[in-house]
Amino acid sequence: MNILLIGSGGREHALAYALAKSPLCTRLFTAPGNPGTARHGQNRPDLAITDHAAVRAFCEAERIGLVVVGPEAPLVAGLVDDLTAAGIRTFGPTKAAAQLEGSKGFTKDLCAEYGIPTAAFARFDALDPALAYLREQGAPIVVKADGLAAGKGVTVADTLDQAEAAVRALFAEPGAEVVVEACLVGEEASFFALCDGTRAIPLGTAQDHKRVFDGDRGPNTGGMGAYSPAAIITPAIEAEVMQRIIQPTLAGMQARGTPFTGILYAGLMLTEDGPQLIEYNTRFGDPEAQVLMPRLNSDLVPALLSACDGDLSGTVLEFDAHRAALTVVMAAAGYPGTVVRGSAIRGLAEAEAAGALVFQAGTRADGDQLLADGGRVLAVTALGDSVKEAQGRAYAAVARIDWPEGFCRRDIGWRAVARELA
Ligand code: ATP
Repeated sequence: MNILLIGSGGREHALAYALAKSPLCTRLFTAPGNPGTARHGQNRPDLAITDHAAVRAFCEAERIGLVVVGPEAPLVAGLVDDLTAAGIRTFGPTKAAAQLEGSKGFTKDLCAEYGIPTAAFARFDALDPALAYLREQGAPIVVKADGLAAGKGVTVADTLDQAEAAVRALFAEPGAEVVVEACLVGEEASFFALCDGTRAIPLGTAQDHKRVFDGDRGPNTGGMGAYSPAAIITPAIEAEVMQRIIQPTLAGMQARGTPFTGILYAGLMLTEDGPQLIEYNTRFGDPEAQVLMPRLNSDLVPALLSACDGDLSGTVLEFDAHRAALTVVMAAAGYPGTVVRGSAIRGLAEAEAAGALVFQAGTRADGDQLLADGGRVLAVTALGDSVKEAQGRAYAAVARIDWPEGFCRRDIGWRAVARELA
């Protein structure tokens, strides 16, 4: 079967690695792709993924049997709807179902209706009632823009002044919608489920590091590293998440006439009162895919096909239960601010010879040379019998990468390692 993967990040390189391994995969195309995905198939930077008619024509010409959508933007733009309507099997949620990620207000309303544990909240479309609510609730409190804001629309305010400033800034935009919610206390972890519209099966857990500097300091980023599994999600907590969060979400989406098919990625806060939903994403995480895919022992392709066909009843996903994976993101100097592009990267083969998988994100090929071409550039992933061992291997591989213009955090996995050593 020929497969088309949509996207160009490190997540897509990890997905390309998993898809190309499948005996069912004859040819893999990635649009637009990056030099990493080119190692597993053919890149199609010429295919405009925002032009759904063009993507459809490509699928028909290349006899594509499965389309896998990596990032959120094409989901929210309805690519899955348009390809599915044309009879092309496409993995991912419809535009309506992708609202679980695209609109925080939509998700909070669903939680309220189905009793899904989440922070107490209120929605606003005007400044004054929002300010009045803030004053009534007091700090700490969390202020969020309703729509997709790539992590930049959230303020966890320690003081009322901060919260008011955040609300005023959001309402400076015409037509703004804002969610204000109680501040949850606990440890964050990510939970992934593969969904077919009615059923869900767990697809692993991970924890990431959002802040740019060691010790979880500095501004937020797309993610500077991650590890899987998140041991803090015990089998009992996993069962609770499936029963109290994932299943009712699927039931609610079905009842709304917009069943959810795809990856449901729950951002959780593990509080004293049990797991609470912070947010949903409706696709694999980046860099979480880079630690989930290397641990997956099962063939990903039949599982995705079964989900598209609405029947995961016979699907079993096996993970390497005894091994942890850890990924260290190497970013260009200046990230998450302005970065200089075009510096040369060497030593990937040496890093892989050290036992790592080097997933590429913001890279560009120039003849035989590999150049940095973005903020987050590489995700250096290693497996080990423990997070500590995976961490040691990943950093040994990082040391072999010759890229003076890049940097990485030196403490990815610190929480899990401390727990292992305790
Ligand atoms: P991203 O998708 O980049 O994680 P986002 O814009 O979708 O970001 P959220 O995930 O809802 O936003 O929030 C971002 C971060 O803010 C969370 O990872 C968490 O650290 C913090 N946060 C959000 N809501 C709460 C809450 N109710 N209590 C405490 N912290 C919160």
